[in-house]
Amino acid sequence: MEAIKCIGCGAELQSEDKNKPGFIPASGMDKEDPICKRCYRLKHYNEVMDIDIDSGEFLTMLNALYETDGLIVKVIDVFDFHGSLIPAFNRIVGDKDVIAVINKIDLLPKSVNRNRVVHRAKQMLSEAGIRAVDTVVVSAMKNEGMDTLVKKLSSYSNGQDIYVVGTTNVGKSTLINRLIENTSGDKEVITTSRFPGTTLDLIDIPLDENASIYDTPGVVVDSQMAHYVQSENLKFISPTKEIKSKTFQLEASQTLFISNLARMDFVAGDRNSFVVYANHALNIHRTKTVKADDFYQNHFNTLLAPPEISKPYLSEDYEVFEFDIEEDSDISISGLAFIRAGAGASVAVRVPTGIDVTLRPTIF
Ligand code: GDP
Repeated sequence: MEAIKCIGCGAELQSEDKNKPGFIPASGMDKEDPICKRCYRLKHYNEVMDIDIDSGEFLTMLNALYETDGLIVKVIDVFDFHGSLIPAFNRIVGDKDVIAVINKIDLLPKSVNRNRVVHRAKQMLSEAGIRAVDTVVVSAMKNEGMDTLVKKLSSYSNGQDIYVVGTTNVGKSTLINRLIENTSGDKEVITTSRFPGTTLDLIDIPLDENASIYDTPGVVVDSQMAHYVQSENLKFISPTKEIKSKTFQLEASQTLFISNLARMDFVAGDRNSFVVYANHALNIHRTKTVKADDFYQNHFNTLLAPPEISKPYLSEDYEVFEFDIEEDSDISISGLAFIRAGAGASVAVRVPTGIDVTLRPTIF
């Protein structure tokens, strides 16, 4: 049977996966001139919707971008810096200018100095090998910092097109929808256009007479915690409002569970304080390390939930990261939490296989 294509963007229509290109609810398939949900929202609500592609497809798309001039806007989730990095990003961006947008700044406590966050973000970008001409902190959701971003986009784009890129869940769609509000109002001006040489369709939002902003699909990276929970459970791990810290004074040989998706064993060192920053819905549980295995087996989907997980990852399918902490640092568990730990502690952090855990100087 010949595939039916969306008359808006040309993607092959499908009803299986709402996050992939060409999704249409099964009931819409029989309609005359069917359009996919993404085009529908764009056409009727001037709103972009995120669709996902894997990193291979993404690289193909960025390879095509390589040939064009333009400004790249790289969106980063302040809460999941590591999970926001796109593999091989630099090589493909070539010598285009990159503006780093650190999004979801509203998640950090209000007392946190924004300049310090920008400073740390620049350091972390440079450690990741990303050369950004400018770094802006924003909250797309709360409309914070968006005026500054729009001004910077105008000045750096020099009449060139702007491509907004990011891994899934960093808030790219929310950001673009804000940009639409701030630049085009609600005029019906947004269109999709097929990017030369690829099957991917970019959404074209006119910025001014000369330049357009293009939304690109979100890249799925395997190290994101979001892959280990069902989408309806994402709300428990991915915070949407200011993260609250919880402080624990621990002795060596004690363990902290951060829900059922991570555990930190305090292996050696003097009594130390550990401050956990995570979605307030998550249960943080302290126990003795000798009892931790049994505790997990018995309670992974009860006392330690939410989220509900399909198997006890931390006893069946896990990796361990060991750190000797020499100065006050953040132990960052990609997409789930970060734990501020004082100097002198040796810890072992256990997470589902594939999740990244990194030690970094404190982010604020
Ligand atoms: P995309 O996959 O990168 O397009 O991300 P979305 O725009 O769909 O956003 C992913 C999640 O992050 C959603 O739950 C959004 O509500 C949330 N989000 C996006 N921007 C912000 C922000 O500035 N602050 C907060 N707290 N949440 C945000």
